[in-house]
Amino acid sequence: MTNTDPAPAAAKKAPARKTAAKKAPAQQAAQPVADAPATLEVRNPGTGALVGTVPVTSADEVAAKVRELRLFQPEWEAIGPDGRKEWLLKFQDWLIDNTDTLADVVQSETGKPRVDSLIDPAFATDLVGYYARRAAKFLADDHPSPHSPLARVKKLTTVYKPYPVVGVITPWNFPLAMPALDVIPALAAGAAVLLKPSEVTPLSALEMARGWAEIGAPPVFAVVTGAGATGGAVVEHTDYIQFTGSTATGRKIAVACAERMVPYSLELGGKDPAIVLADADLDRAAHGIAFGGMFNSGQVCISVERVYVEAPVYDEFVAKLTANVKALRQGIDGRESKHDVGALANENQTNIVQRHVDEAVAAGAKVLTGGKRAGFGTAFEPTVLVDVDHTMSCITEETFGPTLPVLKVADEAEAVRLANDSIYGLSASVWTGDKDRGERIARQLNAGAVNINDVFSNLFNFALPMGGWGQSGVGARWGGANGVRKYCRQQAITAPMLPTQDKELFWYPYSMPKLLFALGAMRAAGARGLRRIDLPAVLKLKGDNK
Ligand code: ADP
Repeated sequence: MTNTDPAPAAAKKAPARKTAAKKAPAQQAAQPVADAPATLEVRNPGTGALVGTVPVTSADEVAAKVRELRLFQPEWEAIGPDGRKEWLLKFQDWLIDNTDTLADVVQSETGKPRVDSLIDPAFATDLVGYYARRAAKFLADDHPSPHSPLARVKKLTTVYKPYPVVGVITPWNFPLAMPALDVIPALAAGAAVLLKPSEVTPLSALEMARGWAEIGAPPVFAVVTGAGATGGAVVEHTDYIQFTGSTATGRKIAVACAERMVPYSLELGGKDPAIVLADADLDRAAHGIAFGGMFNSGQVCISVERVYVEAPVYDEFVAKLTANVKALRQGIDGRESKHDVGALANENQTNIVQRHVDEAVAAGAKVLTGGKRAGFGTAFEPTVLVDVDHTMSCITEETFGPTLPVLKVADEAEAVRLANDSIYGLSASVWTGDKDRGERIARQLNAGAVNINDVFSNLFNFALPMGGWGQSGVGARWGGANGVRKYCRQQAITAPMLPTQDKELFWYPYSMPKLLFALGAMRAAGARGLRRIDLPAVLKLKGDNK
């Protein structure tokens, strides 16, 4: 999904935005990585206009940046969650105060409608508040209950100590929100963070770095720009990798992390099914699925990519869905909101969408609306496909575009079977008039999240984990305390609760009676029934009492 296609030559005449990259001296000195240009051009995919130029950060510069972050991280950790809260809430203020500018930048590098562009800063703002305020509770030491009465002689403590430098690598679909969603919890955990945004949309991430510097926060957050090689260097030098992007790149990162024995969390592709049952509110389902499939031109990892409809309501649902999709207004917004759907992120993306539609049609599918390029930039018309099946690429591969293939199913069982027939398992939705039925079906679906009578709502609930099953990922983001604890190493500490003797029963020199007594006590505490009493050992003790 990476843009390699040049924009139309005419667009090159458009004046470039001055990028925030100019404010980062380390990045100004960028040396080209092998076979890569020293700078990257950023274009509005809706208009082709050049909107910025960023340096390609070399592997050596990435290493130097990580060394610098390492120097400042201990102090960031030492000020504790309450100290960090102050900075994070200042950053939240900055996000709010700069919302319009941030939306401008998001819009300029994505070609999204205004409303979609405003979602990025709003989402980031919400998340900062959640983790800034709760990190102290989430990171507090745990004192778990001992597993056995014998262990009660110890005070048990679990400590959460951050990985010094977390590397965050992000894609282009939400160029501000995606970085923020992972950078903020990692900073809240006490880690320093090195962010490598997508080469397609690096400007919004650089805005984040500008904001962090403007509020005068400690230099524990930095952004490096470039493509895969720069990302590879981030994986080489940091202590934990949080990655969002394609399954193919995720796999490479997992291998690289395994070589270094560095932990990682991956959020990858999806092919999210929606199941519409005959008892559903069809108006709500048709509105929700139109939104779930077309929001951000379908470039959402959890967008609806397949729809299974029970036969009795199939025709009615398809008619309503098609009408909703047809009614969408597509175009390029200014600061005023005039459109629902904009452009795709890059030409590669448009080509994938076109291929999925063409291959489906060639194999017998019908286009009810859309099916072709929208006539400006990379934009593709919102599309509804019917008469599709599970051999077609529009069902087996992630499309990441504005297409909704709809299939008729005989019943709930067939819907569940087909929904689970995918290598992916990110999220799903079930549409039904019976919430209990919805929950029952949810538990049968192989997906990291299921929304009943809704789309995306798991995404806006940071108390829930967001993670994919199967080829959709490893680990999860958020999920309340886990969202910050994942960026920490756990340390177990034991301390005596009672006055200690000069030696423990197990210590040298070995004594069989003492050992058998200790082992017998463990068995008595943990086993059940007569097995609590270790008779052979007791007899041995009698006969062997030295
Ligand atoms: P997309 O097609 O959505 O851009 P990718 O998985 O190609 O998905 O890219 C997601 C992010 O991963 C981008 O920031 C990209 O530069 C980065 N990336 C690509 N290849 C690598 C790699 N080998 N190692 C680390 N990061 C990479």
